[in-house]
Amino acid sequence: MTRPPAERARIRDRLLDGARFLVTSHARPDGDSLGSQLALAEALTQLGKEVRLVNADPPPARYAFLPGASAIEVAGSVEEDGADTVVVLECGSLARTEVSGLAGRFVVNIDHHAGNTGYGAVNWCDESACACGELVFELVEALGAKLTPSIATNVYVAILTDTGSFRHANITARTFDICRRIAGAGVDAAAVAARVFNNGSLGRLRLTGRVLDRMQLEAGGRIAVLAVDEAMLRETGCEADDLEGVVNLPLAAGDVKAVVLLKAFGAGLRVSLRSKDEIDVRRVALSFGGGGHRNAAGLTLEHPAPDARARLVAGVAAAIAESLPA
Ligand code: 5GP
Ligand code: MN
Repeated sequence: MTRPPAERARIRDRLLDGARFLVTSHARPDGDSLGSQLALAEALTQLGKEVRLVNADPPPARYAFLPGASAIEVAGSVEEDGADTVVVLECGSLARTEVSGLAGRFVVNIDHHAGNTGYGAVNWCDESACACGELVFELVEALGAKLTPSIATNVYVAILTDTGSFRHANITARTFDICRRIAGAGVDAAAVAARVFNNGSLGRLRLTGRVLDRMQLEAGGRIAVLAVDEAMLRETGCEADDLEGVVNLPLAAGDVKAVVLLKAFGAGLRVSLRSKDEIDVRRVALSFGGGGHRNAAGLTLEHPAPDARARLVAGVAAAIAESLPA
């Protein structure tokens, strides 16, 4: 699905007409999900709407400074609460929210993932957007809300983090036009980046070192495999959130074309996949029941088989082979 402006107009009208909204996004929130959610919530509040923010998991510490973050309720289910409309941001499927009680309500689906299932009553899914925050920015503008420094900060964090600090695919003139206006609204881009990236714990640094030290190479050095378990978190005083970004680090080596990060916490296995250029790890993730984008995808194996690592590596190796010119 690409961006149909008609859908954006329908969403704008629905938001302008409604009075009470529930705004949610995916479990294990990241910069794009939180920034998008908080920017839209503030715009709706400006317009006199009542807004409830609900997520399955709390914001990671590095995002606690985002304007409005303290208003997010953490809950795995919601009762019928009188909201006219549920806005779901940044979720390829409704299940990604990991919040139950949303199905059957009037859902507005705003996302940028390929393969979005179109679960909403209105669906605005634009794969060409570098971040869901780009779409939210356009919607805030269409609603006629004022671009305050706090809305601009939230959209900036969405774009900054989802583009891997302006390195990933789908960065376009639109991205920079939005960022130009964000700077014009008074956001200090360097200060925001420092809050997100230069404010972690020493434990996180130690964890990163340990994970990279144990990196294994497969497929002639083209695939880097990283593995983390609960003991490594415990020993470094870290939480799972502290791993954000670590999966990208092996891509700094020219020879490494893709990364598999295995997170063995509890019974299941969370897997993050990253790749360069045309290598499509989303398809690998899909074949294991996950999803994501071409160069950044993920999945969860609830009951990982002993050969899970080998099958993942084989899948990624096949994706690399498919991407090479015949
Ligand atoms: P991460 O590796 O950072 O957790 O996720 C990378 C990308 O893959 C994100 O765009 C995220 O939305 C997507 N993703 C991660 N895990 C899953 C999953 O279990 N299911 C789906 N559909 N997408 C996922
Ligand atoms: Mn995103």
